[in-house]
Amino acid sequence: MSDVTVIGGGIIGICSAIALQDEGFAVELVDRGVETEAASYGNCGLLAAGEIVPISKPGILQKIPKWLSDPKSPLFVRPKDMIGQMPWLLRFLWSGRRSRVLEIVAGMTPLLSRAEDDYRALLQSAGLSDKLVTKPNIMAFNSKADIDADSFTWDLRVRHGFKHRFLDSKDLKAIEPALSGPITCGLLLEDWLQFSDPGIVRNKLAEFFQTRGGFLRKGSVTNLVTQGGRVSAIRLSNGEQIAVKRIVLAAGAWSAKLARDLGIKVPLAALQGYHHHLPNPNVKVNHAILYSNGGFVLTPMESGLRIGGTIEVAGLDPKPNFERANIIAEKAKAVLPGLDIIGGKQWMGPRPFMPDTMPVIDRATDHANVVMAFGHGQVGMTLGATTGKLVADLVTCRKSSLDLTPYKATRFSLGQKIPTPKEGNDLIRYPLN
Ligand SMILES: Cc1cc2nc3c(=O)[nH]c(=O)nc-3n(C[C@H](O)[C@H](O)[C@H](O)COP(=O)(O)OP(=O)(O)OC[C@H]3O[C@@H](n4cnc5c(N)ncnc54)[C@H](O)[C@@H]3O)c2cc1C
Repeated sequence: MSDVTVIGGGIIGICSAIALQDEGFAVELVDRGVETEAASYGNCGLLAAGEIVPISKPGILQKIPKWLSDPKSPLFVRPKDMIGQMPWLLRFLWSGRRSRVLEIVAGMTPLLSRAEDDYRALLQSAGLSDKLVTKPNIMAFNSKADIDADSFTWDLRVRHGFKHRFLDSKDLKAIEPALSGPITCGLLLEDWLQFSDPGIVRNKLAEFFQTRGGFLRKGSVTNLVTQGGRVSAIRLSNGEQIAVKRIVLAAGAWSAKLARDLGIKVPLAALQGYHHHLPNPNVKVNHAILYSNGGFVLTPMESGLRIGGTIEVAGLDPKPNFERANIIAEKAKAVLPGLDIIGGKQWMGPRPFMPDTMPVIDRATDHANVVMAFGHGQVGMTLGATTGKLVADLVTCRKSSLDLTPYKATRFSLGQKIPTPKEGNDLIRYPLN
């Protein structure tokens, strides 16, 4: 029997498995083995270090009518899912009040501030340093007024140490000659990097895990079997039951169902995203570019140019609506003249999303041998290596290098008090344990 069984082989599960090997544990990783269903396969590949401000923030209420009525908007709620998703949507909107956003920023900053260092160490040990592309990202805008309209976000990023530099149209043209259309300016996001291709990084790390003796089992976990305040086994869809000593639940957007076996109810949504991946785009893009007005990201990867993004609230495992991928591909053509979208591969996958955008990194309250690591939202790729280290802290029961209070699974349970920053200081960090 392995010392630790990790459920879920996305970036969070793999990085956790490797961090646990570093502690000397024999680790088994169980994954359904459908590579393309994982968000870690199809994401935009950004190491989005400064993404500390949640999507739900002051001003969000005014945007709701557009989300409901315009399937082309960057965030769309499928009408038939509206009622079912309402409890999650209300929590999401409520998390966007100013006071709570400042707490979320205080919770996300310590995680994101160390993401690059943690990845550098991990990738170096795996011989994969070249998979982190050390070029800053660019955020492109139609006008300077669009930047100013979100000064709340930019100010918070600066105050928490994430730097950016304004690029006028000449600066932008000099570093991204292919960009055109309505874009007139941008910001150089100096702390944001990118991966050469997230799916390749995930697969190479999985190989590394195996070369160090890790066991990768293909199987779909249907239940956690509990006994005497512990998980004693996991049950697979083929009927097999595997005895376990400890488990890490890292099944991305699919984690909530398994957490329920432990009596833990988490408001975890699957926010679907899409990409259109072009092996031969016929244009050259030098940096990862987040096009704010278009609501999509262009990432030059080792396997081609990826146009990715959009958020669709449509529940877990919905039928893909590839029209959303077509929309972002068409929008990309408008800013990259000559872009050839013929032959592009389309993909849909779920961001595992808590209403406050913060992940769950926690031990199960009533089951001492379970650690949970899921719900990383739009920054799960960025936080893989960091989460792995924090999971190792929890499994070894040592005092963590970070206060993990903000990432508690029970933070949305009735009667739970959300930790608040001290009065008069927006930027206070949570105290250490
Ligand atoms: C379009 C898009 C763009 C994004 N861009 C970025 C970005 O640029 N930067 C960034 O940091 N993040 C980005 N993200 C978010 C990021 O991709 C996710 O947060 C992250 O990949 C989540 O990783 P995970 O390991 O938790 O889940 P996943 O990658 O989804 O992996 C979960 C794994 O668990 C397995 N699994 C599930 N249930 C079971 C079960 N019952 N039994 C066995 N195995 C199971 C699945 O098969 C899957 O392999 C983006 C997401 C999307 C959709």
